[in-house]
Amino acid sequence: MAAAHARIDAIQPTTYARTRNYLDGAVTRLSPYLTHGFVQVPQVIDRLSQRCQSSPEDKIVFELAWREYFQHLWRHWGEDIFAARRPPPAASYSPHVPQDVLQGCTGVPVIDAAVRTLYRTGYLHNHARMWLASYLVHLRKTDWKAGAMWMYRHLLDGDLASNTLSWQWVAGTLTGKPYLFNAENVERYAPQWSSLGTVLDTGYDALDQLARLGGDCGPHSPCADRVDEPPAGAIPDRDIALMRQVGGEVWLMHPWALGEAPPGRVIGWIEPGFHERFAWSEARWQFVLGRMRAVCEGFVVGDASVLRQQLGNARMMTMQSCNPGYVQAIVDARIVTKTVPKQFDDPPSAMPSFSRFWQQVSGQSASKAT
Ligand SMILES: Cc1cc2nc3c(=O)[nH]c(=O)nc-3n(C[C@H](O)[C@H](O)[C@H](O)COP(=O)(O)OP(=O)(O)OC[C@H]3O[C@@H](n4cnc5c(N)ncnc54)[C@H](O)[C@@H]3O)c2cc1C
Repeated sequence: MAAAHARIDAIQPTTYARTRNYLDGAVTRLSPYLTHGFVQVPQVIDRLSQRCQSSPEDKIVFELAWREYFQHLWRHWGEDIFAARRPPPAASYSPHVPQDVLQGCTGVPVIDAAVRTLYRTGYLHNHARMWLASYLVHLRKTDWKAGAMWMYRHLLDGDLASNTLSWQWVAGTLTGKPYLFNAENVERYAPQWSSLGTVLDTGYDALDQLARLGGDCGPHSPCADRVDEPPAGAIPDRDIALMRQVGGEVWLMHPWALGEAPPGRVIGWIEPGFHERFAWSEARWQFVLGRMRAVCEGFVVGDASVLRQQLGNARMMTMQSCNPGYVQAIVDARIVTKTVPKQFDDPPSAMPSFSRFWQQVSGQSASKAT
């Protein structure tokens, strides 16, 4: 919690607005804490407002609204976030991330540096995520779903809504417009990863044509210095989760609800079905379990029937979640849920674009805030 608060207290809204798009800009790095529910968007804005005046016109508020937009779509679309909303620009894509990308040795400096940073830190700047996704989908013709699952596996902040829908946004399957970038763009925002003289060193018309054609455009000169993709971390052992029968009232702290728990008994909860489908890095498991071990008196690894068996007739409560596996178990085990606090009122139907969402929730046009 202290680390999340320190990050909020370090935000300088004007500097953030001016530098956010630069790789070395003053971004908050709040994403792992927001994803895992250490803090929620309204708490970030409240805490920031105590120090400096903040309004919907602030860039930081606008970016936080992107998070709420993707969560809004997830609540409405559920599993459908994993299906393309529109056709992508090219006719076919590979279901596998190419080996040279996995090994960070494409020979394109911005891509290789991004892959290595992702593996080493579990974090990537927004621009680096966009570049990596765009390169994979539009130049290497990798199916966005394969790319999204690969990136999710290595992120500390992996959030199924933000990640999946951002990949769809880059692929062009969310809005119909593919996101393309070139070496000049990298030169401006990340000169330290200069990629002049590579496949990216071309104009947007040429990139658009490449995106629509079939065929993998690389690697042209793969570098010899390869890295190994880190293996996925293991789901915690079921045996250590066996607990004595618990009655009364318990708060189940799941991985997206690691913030302050209500007073009373707190038990950690891992639903293995989710984690068999969506792997996490070892670092992410340590991040989540470290918090659970500090706060919870024990933890249960199991679905609804295991929860019932382990916790007897306790009245179980937890934070709402859209994560598959957890959603079903919450219903099946009749767990009482608390609503995730939101800064912006959820429009009753799915908003077809962020600008429509933003206009509805803030009364402003998206172009004004950018
Ligand atoms: C391909 C791709 C995959 C992504 N995957 C994820 C993911 O798994 N989890 C995730 O939290 N974000 C994801 N994002 C969104 C964004 O890149 C990260 O939220 C941001 O880079 C996190 O760094 P930060 O906290 O320093 O961001 P800051 O710029 O400091 O922003 C503050 C907070 O606002 C929210 N935010 C900012 N930009 C966005 C955005 N474009 N979309 C959604 N929320 C935003 C985040 O919660 C972020 O922590 C993805 C973006 C792309 C292009």
